[in-house]
Parts: sequence; structure tokens; C-alpha cells
Amino acid sequence: MKYWLSFLLVLLLAGCATPAPDAGSAQGAASLTVVTTTTIVGDIVTQVGGDHIQLSILLPVGADPHSFDPTPQDVAQVADADIIFANGAGLEAFLDNLIESAGATERVVYLDQGIEFVSGLEQAATGEADHAGGDPHLWTDPNNVMVWVHTITRTLNELDPANAITYSANADTYAAKLLTLDSWIRQQVALIPAENREIVTDHAQLGYFVQEYGFKQVGAIVPGYSSMAEPSAQELAHIEDEIASLGVKAIFVGNTVNPTLAERVAEDTGTQIVFFYTGSLSAPGGEAATYLEYMRYNTTAIVDALK
Ligand SMILES: [Zn+2]
Repeated sequence: MKYWLSFLLVLLLAGCATPAPDAGSAQGAASLTVVTTTTIVGDIVTQVGGDHIQLSILLPVGADPHSFDPTPQDVAQVADADIIFANGAGLEAFLDNLIESAGATERVVYLDQGIEFVSGLEQAATGEADHAGGDPHLWTDPNNVMVWVHTITRTLNELDPANAITYSANADTYAAKLLTLDSWIRQQVALIPAENREIVTDHAQLGYFVQEYGFKQVGAIVPGYSSMAEPSAQELAHIEDEIASLGVKAIFVGNTVNPTLAERVAEDTGTQIVFFYTGSLSAPGGEAATYLEYMRYNTTAIVDALK
């Protein structure tokens, strides 16, 4: 994966910029009206677009992308946008209807392109998952976000070639930060004894993180990849057995879900609940206000609970 990342970085450095013959647009004036679904997608698009885009984010801080219900104002915003960036992979259950209502089918960029889906979760086979592709929480591996940066940069460069040099330069700067984040996560995870690298979450949301950094996903309280699924009594009993027999040290519960069920399982099994961030960044100025802060916060929470 590391080699592949370096290759992508070289592509970003060398390939994306199409020098504009004249910089006709005024310095600092936004050239493009951009809409994103989640705050996480919004942050990555901001890193590349900078001052040259005017960005609106549909989901408020703390909203659950699985169950979000757009307003008529959201439809109008999407209808007016030059381009819309979505996570895709079935994360935003509202997306298809929204895009159709807004007549924006031709202007959506799905950031799942070029990413190989993880779908190893045993519970997903119960049919509870709300999409067939696999885990939609693509951003939990920064290597996937590197793919997003490339897709976003290519898109903005095509739509607004006058600012392509800036977009590509922003992308290079951010790609370097993602590489740093990736090595930092590896160093942190190395602090956890191998036998403790077992993850239980409220719903299956860490598939890419688990795969990339050598964890085992023991299971999830809510079966499948959406927070909207409900476990049967049998499924709950099964996960409680797993937690007890493996001596799992923590249940990780995200900021965009209802923790009630996970709290019950924690109580039944004598396990601790650890809160972290899932479908949304924190409010601006908070502890996870950017994607980089979000990943550092979550990694630290996981390492502290399991080491
Ligand atoms: Zn989720």
C-alpha cells in the first residue's frame, strides 16, 4: 500500500496541473459553487479547493449520514451547485432521491470510485446491510482519502482550469499530510499488544481501518454497515458471547449514533464504552474539527483503550 501511495503522490505532483494560459478570475473570488454531503467530505474538498470554491455542506455537525433526511432547501442548494461531492458506496441513503429531485444526476462525483470495498464482515451476510457493495465508511483509512484527493483535484481542475495550479498545489500539500498521518497511525497501533487488536463497534464502521492497520473486527452491536439496522436477540447474545470469550477490552461508539444498545451490551459484559467520531467531524474549533484531527482523536482513543 505504501508504494502505491507514493505512486499516487507522484501523480498528484506531476500530472494534475494543467497550467492555465491566463488567470482571468479575480484573486480570492470563488469560481465554483460546490456542495458536499458530510462534514468529512467537506473538509477534504476544502483542503483542495481552498478559497476558489464556495462550499456548502448538507449534513450538520453530528448528523448521521445513514438516516439524514434532506430539506427542500437542501434540494435547492444541490440544484444550484456546479458540482456535488458524495462519499457514495451506499453511505448516504438519501442521496439518489435528492439528486433526482434536484436534477443534478450529471453533476455528482462519487468518491468511492477507484476504491476496493471491504466486505468481510460476517454479520453483513444476514442481509441487514443497506447496500451490497461493502463497508461505506471509506475515510477510516487515509489511503482511501488519498484517492479522494486525486478525484477531487481532477474534477476541480477540469471545471476550473484557470485555478488548476492552485488546486494541484493544495492537493500536494494535503497528500503529504495524509502520508504523515498514515505513518503516525502505524506507530500508534504498534503500541497495542497484538492480542488486544480486537474491535467491537456500535455498527460496522471501521472495516478499512481494521484491514489497513492489522486489527480484527470481532463484530458490531448493530449488524451490518448501517446504523439503522436492528439486531435480533440472538445476534445480541452472540456478540455478547464473543466479547466475553475473547476478553474484548472496549466497545467503540460513534458520535452520530444512539448509544443505548451498546451501553446495555457493555453493562452485560463488563466492558467499557469508548466514544469516538464516526459519520461527522466535531463542531469547528472542537477536538475533531478536521479530518486529520478526527483520525488522530480516534486512533488515540482506540490505542488508549486497547494497549
Ligand atoms: Zn455508519
